[in-house]
Amino acid sequence: GATSPPMRLAVVGSGPAGFYAASRVMSKLPGTLVDMYEGLPVPFGLVRHGVAPDHPEVKNCQDRFGEIAAAPNFRFLGNVSVGQPLHAAEHCVAPLGSLMRHYDTVLLAYGASEDKKLGILGESTLTGIYSARQFVGWYNGLPECAGLRPDLLRGEDAVVIGQGNVALDVARILLEDVDVLRKTDITEHALAELARSRVRRVHVVARRGPMQAAFTIKEVRELMKLPSVAFWPVNRSLIPQDIKNLPRASRRLMEVLLKGTSLSPGQSSRSWSLDSCLSPRHFLGRSDNPTAVASTEFDMTHLEEPFNPASRVINTGSTKVLPSDVVFRSVGYRSVALPEFAEAGIQFDAARGIVSNDGLGRVTRLVSGDDANPHVTAQQVAGLYCAGWLKRGPTGVIASTMQDAFATGDAIVQDWLSGGRFLQPDQIQSPGGWEAVMQDVGPSATSAVSWDRWLRIDAAEKSRGHRLGKEREKFTRTSDMLSVL
Ligand code: FAD
Repeated sequence: GATSPPMRLAVVGSGPAGFYAASRVMSKLPGTLVDMYEGLPVPFGLVRHGVAPDHPEVKNCQDRFGEIAAAPNFRFLGNVSVGQPLHAAEHCVAPLGSLMRHYDTVLLAYGASEDKKLGILGESTLTGIYSARQFVGWYNGLPECAGLRPDLLRGEDAVVIGQGNVALDVARILLEDVDVLRKTDITEHALAELARSRVRRVHVVARRGPMQAAFTIKEVRELMKLPSVAFWPVNRSLIPQDIKNLPRASRRLMEVLLKGTSLSPGQSSRSWSLDSCLSPRHFLGRSDNPTAVASTEFDMTHLEEPFNPASRVINTGSTKVLPSDVVFRSVGYRSVALPEFAEAGIQFDAARGIVSNDGLGRVTRLVSGDDANPHVTAQQVAGLYCAGWLKRGPTGVIASTMQDAFATGDAIVQDWLSGGRFLQPDQIQSPGGWEAVMQDVGPSATSAVSWDRWLRIDAAEKSRGHRLGKEREKFTRTSDMLSVL
């Protein structure tokens, strides 16, 4: 009602999920006081550190996020991570328990900060094998990946394992003309290494076939359009002879794959291929340097129904070896539980890598029944919500993340209006928010980066970029970001 105090909402994470959910709540409950906690001094999550530098139009959502952040009832708290430290430099860690004491509602939207592993021999012992997450973080200036220095001088064959859009981003960055990349916001250290790169052939390898691929047409088309990069003809037997009857999206994708490039691999020094039906078995070292990867052995697989997008796949018993001077593992991202989850009664579904929730973003826990009612039931954890990759798992683009964050925002509003489902049920005054959390965390709270201070970092990055003829030159160390202030 008009006399009750406004909701105090803490948002953990400043990617699309956090911003879109916050904006939804702010538009439906205009007085809501929002504090957004972000572990890095800089906002926007994977829009800044994931989306490829040659996709600047995808980053336009940052303008919308800037408008949301400009509202007087919104506060950005960069360089403050929740539950566990995100980076080593001078920064502040707020316990989740402190947020739960000082807000009505806490929204977890901290994304997926780790990657899935293959779990095969050589993966963690041989050099020259990188996760796509780290490689992407390296060329996009994610502080924890700034020191990666992938070695692109070992030879001409790169293997990218996985067939999603991230795998194609990696392939494109490896093959693209560096003079095109030079005008983007790709980091200078990455440009220098890519300019020296000896990689000429990129094998995008997958357990299944083109009909089962997760990548989308835009990304395939971009690779086909790279000047002087040829595509090895796709394995025709894995695509239906008559593609006219396929659903539209799939038909168009198959058309692009079948058309390939006008350049043939013999006419060009640079090429890429889709190597289907290969499941990685182990990595092999070089004869002259046994600690460096030289090749990958794969199990050859068989698709039970090659044209069915959900086809099962089995090993045939045969194997195949691909030369692999450098390997990128691109089999998915992974969210992690915060250390305080158990204590706070939050269940983490480790298999799916998500916070257990009702599908609309209400965090739930399973409660075992008693003698009267022996059923296990899912119970809402009052006042706690999740959104984005942490809610659905690490798939989907910004548009789908937005839809999903709106659904969580609606659940928050609905629960608030129906009364009772929040963290501080008895109070008559608004809880303390950041001012109260500051008391809990002590002196390090002064290192929080406000939105105005982020705008100063932003301006400094842009002016560094302009001197180099590009949109922006990111700071890749948190200490450098903070030294602007
Ligand atoms: P994130 O964007 O990951 O945001 C999470 C935020 O939480 C981060 O800022 C992180 O620093 C912060 N955080 C983490 N832990 C804590 C903590 N403990 N305390 C406080 N803060 C914390 N989508 C497109 O539409 N187009 C594209 O071209 C595209 N390209 C992509 C390329 C790559 C390589 C990847 C990985 C994704 C791409 N996506 C693209 C997908 C898009 O980036 C995601 O859908 C979206 O970013 C997910 O949003 P999120 O808010 O859930 O997570």
